Parts: sequence; structure tokens; C-alpha cells
Amino acid sequence: MKIAVLAGDGIGPEIIAEAMKVLQALASDGLKLELEQAPFGGAGYDAHGDPLPEATLRLAKAADAVLCGAVGGPQYDVLPRAQRPEQGILRIRKELGLFANLRPAVLFPELVGASTLKPEIVSGLDVMIIRELTGDIYFGEPRGRRVNARQEREGFDTMLYSEPEIRRIARVGFTTAMKRGRKLCSVDKENVLETSRFWREVVTDVAKDYPQVTLTHMYVDNAAMQLVRAPKQFDVIVTGNMFGDILSDEASMLTGSIGMLPSASLDERSKGLYEPVHGSAPDIVGKNLANPLATILSLAMMLRYTFNQDEAAKRIEDAVKRVLAQGLRTADIQEGGARKVGTAEMGDAVLAEL
Ligand code: NAD
Repeated sequence: MKIAVLAGDGIGPEIIAEAMKVLQALASDGLKLELEQAPFGGAGYDAHGDPLPEATLRLAKAADAVLCGAVGGPQYDVLPRAQRPEQGILRIRKELGLFANLRPAVLFPELVGASTLKPEIVSGLDVMIIRELTGDIYFGEPRGRRVNARQEREGFDTMLYSEPEIRRIARVGFTTAMKRGRKLCSVDKENVLETSRFWREVVTDVAKDYPQVTLTHMYVDNAAMQLVRAPKQFDVIVTGNMFGDILSDEASMLTGSIGMLPSASLDERSKGLYEPVHGSAPDIVGKNLANPLATILSLAMMLRYTFNQDEAAKRIEDAVKRVLAQGLRTADIQEGGARKVGTAEMGDAVLAEL
């Protein structure tokens, strides 16, 4: 199992260091792992003038899976768009054909008090949000600036989905639902957008191949409301790139902290890039405050989705659960009575439980 490790910027190296401890523990227990690190994001720009240096991309392509920390930071915000760290993320997704982003929003019972919502609304929450990752208004052409007929400056982007793009993400939605509660909710804006009307038509057609799954459709504005009103009504949500970007961040808050949420981005053969949902958190860099659990849980997703090592994945998840049950919390989890620990101490605690 070849894993490319791209720590990135900000708290990236801090949280990746903890995930590496877990990987090394699994390796010494007999998992055959090959790990190689490379600069990425702002670190890629600093080393090679490119957020996705050629050697990093080569390594990522040769690997079976990629583990990422996070990228970005205020010092890079002044760079031209093509050199910004975030472009590295968009490009690596495109280059590796990672079109399906899986973001579970699971509330650990121990953290029910950390959610901003009432316990009865969120306890037992287990939603999987599947976001299409390589199309939509984030990539559609044309885009740009121009001067219109009234001589006013304007900016524009193009929302666009092809039928094959919708079919393959819909299939990920249905197959994921088959492995879970067999309920799929497709989120769109069909009442306004032509792209969404087409999306709904194609998803409905794909549904014919999955008669055991109950398909529903929901407008994105309603979905945003339902996620905070009654989130447990959802099993799997499938949606486009922009709606998924927003809804998955919203869902992340239901679980208590963005520092707990892993993600997987998969290609058609389950090669994947695994990363925490959060960014590089420049406000807490070097303060031993970063929660490494989202990254460690991303590792569990990697073992499950790319390497089919369900047992090893479960070992990691169970170790995290036990650490939370002991009352250990990093500072991002707002909860009274817990024992506050730093990044490394949290990593070590998971390691001890492993
Ligand atoms: P952020 O997720 O980095 O931080 C938001 C808030 O959550 C901050 O207060 C931060 O301290 C806290 N936080 C995030 N992760 C945490 C963790 N593991 N433990 C404890 N607290 C945590 O989002 P932002 O501030 O909007 O963005 C900062 C930078 O990250 C920007 O440059 C942005 O472009 C980049 N970013 C990168 C990715 C990525 O690498 N995939 C994703 C989102 C944002």
C-alpha cells in the first residue's frame, strides 16, 4: 500500500505528524505500508514556485492513496490565482480524477454536548454527504470578467454538468446508500436552474438500477434548513460541487467541531485522497491546539475505501471513541468538564488505545 503524504501548510504538518504515528503503529503490526512525503500547497509554492509541484503530482499519481493535511495561509493570499495553495487542491482533484467527495457527519455519543444543536435533534446523527468534486460552476467555462453593453464591468461563471458526470456521482450515491440505510436524497435547485433540472432528470433515470433505494429530491435552500431542523431524516445526500461545499460545512457543525470530520475523494477505481474537512487554521498554528482526530479518522476512511482493510479502519475508529470516552478533548470541542489536551497528547492517546 503506497501512500503519498502531503502535509501542506498551517496546522497541516502538526496533524499529519499524529496520523503518521498511527500509520507507523499499523505498519509495525504487519500492514505493508510505503510512505513518502512531498511539499504541497503553500509549501509547494515555497519549494518549487508551484502549489502542486511536478514531483508531488508524480508521487500522488504513483501512490494508491494520498493523505493530505491542509493548505493555505494569509501569506499566500496575495499570490496570483494559479499559484494560490487552494489551486493545488483543485488541480490534484482534477489530475487524479477524484470526482466523488464523501463526507460523513457522524456525532460521537460522547460529543453530544458539544454540538450547537439540542441533544434530541442530533444524538445518533449519521449522515453521509456525497459532493461532486470536479464539475459545476467551480470549473465551468466560460468564466471571467468583461464589460457589458451598458459599459458596466461584470464577473461571470458557468454552471455546467454533463450527463456522464451526473450519472457517475449518482451511482456513487446509490451504491453508498445500498451499504447504509438505503435512502438517498438528491439536492438541487430545480425550480430555478436549468443545470438542476437536468441533474434531477438524470438522477431519476439512474434510480431505475437501484430499486431497493428510496430516492427523494430536495431544493438546496430547504436542505440547508432541514440539516439544522431535523438532520436525522437524512441517510445519504448526493449533490453538486457548490451546493455540496456549503452543505457539508453546515453539516460539520452538527457534530460539534470541524476538527473531528474526515473526508475521502475517490476516483472510479476507489483510489482516493483523504483529508480532514477543515483548512489550515492559521490562527492556531504552532500552538499545540489543533485537533488531529479528523486526520486520523481520514486514515480510517483510507483503509476502508481504498485498501478494503475494514478491520484496521475499525480499530482506529474504536481507538478514537475510547479516547473520547475517557474525556479527552482538544480546545476546539466546546464542552464543559472535559480534560483539555494538546495535539500531540491526543495523538498519543489514540496510539495508546490502538
Ligand atoms: P479553517 O478550517 O482553517 O479554520 C476555521 C476555524 O476552525 C478556525 O478558527 C480554526 O482554528 C478552527 N479549526 C480548523 N481546524 C481545526 C482543528 N483541526 N483543530 C482545532 N481547530 C480547528 O478555515 P479558514 O480559516 O476559513 O481557512 C484558513 C485557510 O485554510 C485558508 O487559507 C483557506 O483557503 C484554507 N482552506 C484549506 C482547505 C483544504 O486544505 N482543503 C479547506 C478549507 C480552507
